[in-house]
Amino acid sequence: MKDITTKSIGLLGLAEEELYQALQGISPDIKRYRAKQIWLRLHKFRVRSFDEMTELPKDLRASLGERFHIQSIEAVHESDSADGTKKFLFKLSDGLEIETVLIPSEMRDAQGEVRRKTLCLSTQVGCPLDCKFCATATLKLKRNLTAAEILLQVFEVERITGERVTNIVYMGMGEPMLNYDNVIRSLRILSNPELEIIGAKRITVSTSGLPDEIRKFAEEGFGVKLALSLHATTDELRTKLMPINKRYPIVGLLEAMDYYYQKTGIPVTYEYIVFEALNDTEADAKRLAKIARRMPSKVNIIPFHKIDFTNPTGISAELHPTAQDKFELFVDMLRAQGVQVMVRSSSGLDIEAACGQLALASEHVPVPIQL
Ligand code: SF4
Repeated sequence: MKDITTKSIGLLGLAEEELYQALQGISPDIKRYRAKQIWLRLHKFRVRSFDEMTELPKDLRASLGERFHIQSIEAVHESDSADGTKKFLFKLSDGLEIETVLIPSEMRDAQGEVRRKTLCLSTQVGCPLDCKFCATATLKLKRNLTAAEILLQVFEVERITGERVTNIVYMGMGEPMLNYDNVIRSLRILSNPELEIIGAKRITVSTSGLPDEIRKFAEEGFGVKLALSLHATTDELRTKLMPINKRYPIVGLLEAMDYYYQKTGIPVTYEYIVFEALNDTEADAKRLAKIARRMPSKVNIIPFHKIDFTNPTGISAELHPTAQDKFELFVDMLRAQGVQVMVRSSSGLDIEAACGQLALASEHVPVPIQL
């Protein structure tokens, strides 16, 4: 393990053992139980200053303040949608901004009504992939988020709203698999039962499809769900919509998704945005059903909503929502072929809920503080 002894290390996001190693820089006499206390204070009780760690001796608290810091992010804008969706714009320590979306939903199951509060996390500032339906793509990649910045989105939203998040999806700005190490670090904390943050089964990591990383992820043993942003059933269309497909065509991705199921026993999810006349035909439904039947899986069907790109060019200009009756027919065709389909609503349409749009807007317009 790396020796962490340099000045002012941020302690949030470290594993317990790493934190113990870091404390050895203060004194080799510091006991392991102190590292445990600090680690729990940071990640379970979410203190924001060393002074709040009242069980520690005063001189230790002072030493912690001299050598280390607790990272933070600042909510600079919050918008509420009529359907209850909340969108947060967070400013990072270097002034860059990311967005996090909280989506409430109500579902019925055998036990009755289930209320969910799903938090959609960002993993990068901007994104290097150039998906043609996504506003984040126009921001380009600024940098990866640290593990602490990923965790803080959960901690801050729960602190601001006073409510616990019931589900987490890594589906905001950025491609999680391109920030692999920090995503893994954040998952280690979020899914740790001792910290009682959220159960692993309630976390989904969504990827645009990097087969090597998917296979590696399958070996991590977190027990979280994996979703693939598929959106097309032919390489020709998928490459147009998601240029990363040229490098990693569909067949290799599906084999990697099969591997994830075989390794973890957790059914995989395919995300599919429906675009008028591009991927909503009977032939598309047949191909999608064939993909879904390879392994136990679920398909999330998502209605497209128009994004206000400044200058849509190429295929971006051709993207339109499918009419409601055709959309429903597409869903029916899938169900008729035995596919487990969930229709996702376009939550927060009135607050620019497409990924990247709030951060994109704030690049051009000063954002008022509304907290
Ligand atoms: S959809 Fe996801 S992977 Fe694609 S450009 Fe947007 S943020 Fe990046």
